[in-house]
Amino acid sequence: MGIDATQPYDDGNIFARILRGELPCRKVYEDEHALAFHDINPAAPVHILVIPTGRYVSWDDFSERASPDEIAGFVRAVGTVARDAGLVADGYRLLANVGRDSGQVVPHLHVHIFGGGPLGPMLAR
Ligand code: AMP
Repeated sequence: MGIDATQPYDDGNIFARILRGELPCRKVYEDEHALAFHDINPAAPVHILVIPTGRYVSWDDFSERASPDEIAGFVRAVGTVARDAGLVADGYRLLANVGRDSGQVVPHLHVHIFGGGPLGPMLAR
């Protein structure tokens, strides 16, 4: 069961604390619009999270409220991180959980980048 993606942004969430430097992360990329770091509990040989630097609960919130600059910057960052990780030639998967049915746990938008080997079926059956 995931979070309610319609909730207001919570400044105490784990990724907000990582953005403020209050909690550590294994950083792989940072710019004005995005921060990327290794997932603490990897589900693939490469499992990186990319988060916007702005206060957005989910993809729904971000796609509705973010500025064109934020959206372009974030999308470019996701691509750059995957490219820099060497994932393009063999391929990779992007995933963004949104709300209850998806199982989203952290109420700050994050895109998962999975790669480093065959990833299996898109969804567990
Ligand atoms: P989701 O279910 O899409 O909300 O995914 C949240 C992800 O955040 C999970 O894959 C967790 O392993 C990951 N995670 C939680 N806390 C941390 C942390 N402190 N550093 C890195 N990844 C984390």
